[in-house]
Amino acid sequence: MGHFDVIVVGAGPAGLLAAGSAAAQGDKVLILEKMRQEGRKLLITGKGRCNITNDSAVVDFIQHVYPNGRFLRNAFTHFFSQDIIELLQNYGVNVSCERGGRYFPSSNRSAEVLAALLKWVHEMKVEIRCGHRVEKLIVKSNTIQGLQANGQIFKTKSVILATGGKSYPATGSNGEGYQLAREVGHSIERIRPSLVPIETGGDVAQKLQGLTLKNVRAVVWVNERKMGEEFGEMIFTHFGLSGPIILSLSRIVVDALHKKSKVEVTIDLKPALDEKKLDMRLLRDLNEFGKRKISNIFRDWLPSSMVPVFLDILGIDPEKEGHQISSKERKQIRHLLKNFRFRITNHRSFKEAIITAGGVSTLEISSKTMESKLVSGLYFAGEMIDLDAETGGYNLQIAYSTGWLAGKSSMNNR
Ligand SMILES: Cc1cc2nc3c(=O)[nH]c(=O)nc-3n(C[C@H](O)[C@H](O)[C@H](O)COP(=O)(O)OP(=O)(O)OC[C@H]3O[C@@H](n4cnc5c(N)ncnc54)[C@H](O)[C@@H]3O)c2cc1C
Repeated sequence: MGHFDVIVVGAGPAGLLAAGSAAAQGDKVLILEKMRQEGRKLLITGKGRCNITNDSAVVDFIQHVYPNGRFLRNAFTHFFSQDIIELLQNYGVNVSCERGGRYFPSSNRSAEVLAALLKWVHEMKVEIRCGHRVEKLIVKSNTIQGLQANGQIFKTKSVILATGGKSYPATGSNGEGYQLAREVGHSIERIRPSLVPIETGGDVAQKLQGLTLKNVRAVVWVNERKMGEEFGEMIFTHFGLSGPIILSLSRIVVDALHKKSKVEVTIDLKPALDEKKLDMRLLRDLNEFGKRKISNIFRDWLPSSMVPVFLDILGIDPEKEGHQISSKERKQIRHLLKNFRFRITNHRSFKEAIITAGGVSTLEISSKTMESKLVSGLYFAGEMIDLDAETGGYNLQIAYSTGWLAGKSSMNNR
């Protein structure tokens, strides 16, 4: 079976970086991956394009990470965005930087990123055994002794747990890594889906399903208090709301629903116009096109599939002409355009969440080394740690940086 200095559990981006950085120091490294293939989740990132990382400076970067981005400062001094870009470029991946500092492979193929990382670890003589599910960690006197996979015992002085979160479980990361950590004494902060679509009451979202809105502002209200807002793109679905700005707001929604609070989302369809300017615009159009049907005039204000839904909510007869709209009705139209309101009833499950919030408590991990403060020789990397970030390439960078540092530090146990 051979002896290994370091055994990495999980062949996602965190595990691959951990293995490569440990092997770069001359360690003999084994990765055990339970799926038949490495990096299944990496392949579906960025809708198959893989948003590799983000070009923000460290101070900005950590603002996008919850609940405690500062935990990553040290990991980022060892390995940051330019390092992953350089590594990938050395293995033939050209990258392009897009809006918001988001890096993608120029080929738009996540498979190219995975292939480069696999080539790198193979060159470092890392051994990968797929189809090996780690069932148990073996710990004596608070020190790692090895682990058990597929009923087989593997002895080693360093284990790096990089088993991912609980979201998109079909990719292999189904949350079982948390149980491995719990069994050896670690606290797990409450696990919940994040960057996840949300469900709405009533049938308005359903009536609009498939419609994408760009350049709108969404606001989350918890018990009538404004708790967050995002500007950009969203989409209506058969269950409610999704799209980039909704996913970004979902962290607040999920936590508020957990506390049984009243949660609502309003959409401002005319964020560039304040109430006064919008009123002037409505007045101008209603006067100018006074002889046109209101359903017709509405098409200048909204995407056409929204028009019947809006008129229905407002209770305005679509046959009414512009000049027949009262000032009370105009006020209601203005209000609805600025505050298209949805009651939020639920969030979607882990199956549809881009990231898992919660995980192994950072209070029990050394930010200098990624080593467990409870079990010597045990390290953590990637999404299984209680850190999660917004979309934009931040989550993958957390995986690479914590993986790199865990791998580099694991030689302390030799
Ligand atoms: C649809 C989607 C799109 C995304 N897009 C982006 C994006 O564009 N940019 C970005 O930055 N982030 C993105 N993310 C998030 C990103 O994919 C994760 O943050 C990242 O994959 C975490 O890496 P990881 O190595 O920690 O975990 P994972 O990639 O989940 O890897 C963990 C591995 O451990 C294995 N494993 C689990 N348990 C065991 C066990 N007991 N024994 C052996 N092996 C085990 C799993 O099979 C898996 O292969 C996206 C996520 C999703 C779901």
